[in-house]
Amino acid sequence: MSVTEAWGPGSVSERRRSSISLDWDAEFSRARQAYERSEGTITPVGFWHCHPEPTDSERPSDADLGAFGALMERANEIAHVPIFVAVIAVPAGGSRFAAPRIAKWVIRRSDSCRRNLVCERARA
Ligand SMILES: [Zn+2]
Repeated sequence: MSVTEAWGPGSVSERRRSSISLDWDAEFSRARQAYERSEGTITPVGFWHCHPEPTDSERPSDADLGAFGALMERANEIAHVPIFVAVIAVPAGGSRFAAPRIAKWVIRRSDSCRRNLVCERARA
């Protein structure tokens, strides 16, 4: 897998101190356009966001887990996405985001129950 493009939240997304409301329709419209423009070569593979404080966890919150599942479902409306990647950036030290900690997670269907999703730390 190779990531060729990543972008920030859409223009009508709302960022608050500890949460963000995404314009998912705009995000997936852009992803669909990339998929169609590339004739299926570029597929949506994941999502990234920040946890703003150096003391914040790099682990997904309960809200993150719910969003990851929903985002994976939306990505699968565009192309077959068996594994969805979630990246969480957390500022390190006093430099804020100059050298963030980057946590990578993968979301996939459970082997034992296909309705359930599993989120685990990626080995990269
Ligand atoms: Zn989060």
